[in-house]
Amino acid sequence: MGSPTEARRAARVTPAMQQYLDAKRQHRDALLFFRMGDFYEMFYEDALTAARVLELALTSRSKDSGGSPIPMCGVPCHAADGYVARLVKRGFRVAICEQVEAAGAKKSKQPLRREVVRVVSPGTLTDASYLEAKEPAFLVAVAPQAAPRPARAGNPADRVYGAALIDLSTGEFSAAEYTGESGRQALVDEVSVLRPREVIVAQDLKLSEVLPELNALQLPVTALDPWTFGFDHAREALRDQLRTTLEGSDLDGHPAATQAAGALVQYLRDTQKVDLVHVRRIVFRSRADHVLVDASTCRHLEILESAGGGRAGSLLGELDRTVTPMGGRLLRARLQRPAHALEPIQDRLDAVEELAFGGAARSKLRDTLKAVHDLERLIARVALRTAGPRDLVALRQSVAVIPRVRGLLGDCNAPLARSLLAQLDDVADVRDAIEATLVDEPPVSAHDGQCIRDGVDPALDELRSISRDAKKHIAALENAERKRTGIGSLKVRFNRVFGYYIEVSKANLHAVPDDYFRKQTVATGERYVTPALKEYEEKALGADERQLDREQELFEALRRQVAAETLRIQESARALAGLDVVAALAAAAVALNYTKPQVHAGAELEIVEGRHPVVERHCADAFVPNDLLLDDGAQQLVIVTGPNMGGKSTFLRQAALIALLAHAGSFVPAKHAKVPLVDRVFARVGAADDIARGRSTFMLEMQETAKILDAATSRSLVLLDEIGRGTATFDGLSLAWAVAEHLATSARARPKTLFATHYHELTDLADAAAGVVNYHVVAKEWNDDIIFLRRVEPGRSDRSYGIQVARLAGLPPETVQRAREILVGLESDELSRGGRPSFSGQPHAPEVQLGLFHAPPPGHARIVERLRATDVDELTPLAALALLAELKQALEAPE
Ligand code: ADP
Repeated sequence: MGSPTEARRAARVTPAMQQYLDAKRQHRDALLFFRMGDFYEMFYEDALTAARVLELALTSRSKDSGGSPIPMCGVPCHAADGYVARLVKRGFRVAICEQVEAAGAKKSKQPLRREVVRVVSPGTLTDASYLEAKEPAFLVAVAPQAAPRPARAGNPADRVYGAALIDLSTGEFSAAEYTGESGRQALVDEVSVLRPREVIVAQDLKLSEVLPELNALQLPVTALDPWTFGFDHAREALRDQLRTTLEGSDLDGHPAATQAAGALVQYLRDTQKVDLVHVRRIVFRSRADHVLVDASTCRHLEILESAGGGRAGSLLGELDRTVTPMGGRLLRARLQRPAHALEPIQDRLDAVEELAFGGAARSKLRDTLKAVHDLERLIARVALRTAGPRDLVALRQSVAVIPRVRGLLGDCNAPLARSLLAQLDDVADVRDAIEATLVDEPPVSAHDGQCIRDGVDPALDELRSISRDAKKHIAALENAERKRTGIGSLKVRFNRVFGYYIEVSKANLHAVPDDYFRKQTVATGERYVTPALKEYEEKALGADERQLDREQELFEALRRQVAAETLRIQESARALAGLDVVAALAAAAVALNYTKPQVHAGAELEIVEGRHPVVERHCADAFVPNDLLLDDGAQQLVIVTGPNMGGKSTFLRQAALIALLAHAGSFVPAKHAKVPLVDRVFARVGAADDIARGRSTFMLEMQETAKILDAATSRSLVLLDEIGRGTATFDGLSLAWAVAEHLATSARARPKTLFATHYHELTDLADAAAGVVNYHVVAKEWNDDIIFLRRVEPGRSDRSYGIQVARLAGLPPETVQRAREILVGLESDELSRGGRPSFSGQPHAPEVQLGLFHAPPPGHARIVERLRATDVDELTPLAALALLAELKQALEAPE
């Protein structure tokens, strides 16, 4: 709304409209939901937008000062959450303007006081029914900052990026710092993996210049006043929020992280307008805390989602046996960020082992945990003051199982299980308070009434009895009037317009006494009121309204009482989530026949009879397990060759998935697995597989490969699947060779690498570089057909079987036959050229690739013949020169 228009509108508007305009002025960037009775109304442009997006009927309200009707639309309060969620998911912000004064208490004619109590944006939507139960809903703030070294300030290599991450729906809050270009990459990687709902930056930050990759993710971005990100301000906001000084905390000495975290807190306070009692803890994450799994690795390995999208067919989908939403989120986080330290991994594995063997305890525990609702999100809603009576009842039911959980695990010895148990707080006081105050099945909102038990509050009891008695009195009055007037059909009734009235049918009108006041004529008779009736009405209706207000008050007091115990409830919720994950991993280990991996600080990755956790569940034939040994010595880089569809990718991926599962504290699909601590996992798939994504595939592939060469350390695990496929054969081969060679010989880092390729030439690298070995997938030819044995064995494969695969895939017989002919031609052609690769550097080396299909170049045969006939050892330097001249001439002057 432009301000002159506003001024004009404001000139002669009703008091309520004035309130609307005032609120709107402060929330220009949001759609304003303005509470009026049982509805939230929207006006002017907001009404037009909301009517369009939500498909609501557009009406209009009395005319504004200019004489035009004011467009208006509304949604009923009880359904408002759904409408808000729909708008927010479409990218709008919604400001909720409430009546902050109880209607019953109002005496004057002034409108009820109204205030914006909350602004909902994509990152602050906390209503559990509109969030994915097993996914976090993150909000991220990013604060790039030049390092405080004046000489080089502004140099991107020195730039420090602070990032803070919060899930407002649970209170999980952390911050981290990233330095220089590699840090920038890591930040982008992390944001792409976590996929936050909203990103917060300072208004003056040019995201498209500073972090173009992040900009390209097209997440909703909210720009705040730069002062919000100022260090002093941010530190103050954070201190205030966390109720502690930052000195000596993990965040101390990390100004950029502090800035991001402080700005985030400020934003949340401005939009939620409450003290966020569920956000009292921040974790500073260092990059070494967990195994880094970047977004494309996560995608290629289908860790959280399958290639087609969705959990089904992903590692998470296969593994997840958690029974609570919190457990589901925790397991997801573990797979996304597996631990990178022996002790926690070992503790988790030991706990899983104990429960895997303790079948009875495990299934009882899981049955018990099924009664636990999303305690983390419930207590967050309590803290945010959006929880309703049903939320509190769900919270009570959830904490009520804690004593039983403790009883079931009493005999557990695993240190992790014991410490989780110790962390469990019964919060009996909270449970009992809710139990004593709220009825078992309350309505959605306290203001709907009948949510507080009788006997809790004398004032409420009295109001309830007045309204009950008043109703009784009305019945008595009806009887008395019937007797007094002799009209047997006289009725006392109620409607919203007149309140209570007496209805007399036409035939009896002559008997109506003088003290009846006529209010309305209807077809069947007349409606009257009497002073006595009105007096009771006031008492009864007033009592009803005050009763609802009192219920609301009592409910809010209870909610405050529960909110005061937020931290204890959060601790218990985390412990329950941890136990759920342990039990779920144990259940998966048993159901899927996994074994406990031996995670160690050494170098060997040794897998005996390893399986791919997803493919083994879905492949048509029985899955063939395979062995693998990788180390930092003689088996550092394994080249895997074999026909397409032979099982190379599966073999590579299962190695990475087994390593990641082990780091996440899970058992693994293998007979035996020894897994070294790994700092990063990289998985890259040759560009041809990426074509569906419509990106500049070869460029992307090379960028990603460059990143691996740059970032991998000797503790990394690298999978390269058909790298180089996105370009011409010899270019691709040369690149694949160079990349493999680099990984095998670099002085800086020799990561454990699995390299799948259809370039058989690459197998020669094993002869040239120490640490490189060949594996191949075994296939057999059978009457022109190919049989995939899916067995991976040491050594190189002899051929590619591409034509047999094509035949299997249903290529027409004549095409297959033609391919055979061309292959024969190519093979002899390539032989006669000595299989010399072209290093022309052209993206499509036409000389080699097309030449194969054409007649040999002029003089070709004679040159080949002459070379074959030459014994190089016998040649003097002069004779060699003469031969060179002769050959050149033959090339230029064909026979
Ligand atoms: P490549 O990478 O060699 O083209 P893939 O790894 O994509 O081959 O495997 C092709 C298909 O073969 C898979 O989709 C899977 O169904 C099946 N497969 C792969 N490995 C195995 C195995 N070890 N046992 C059984 N089936 C397998």
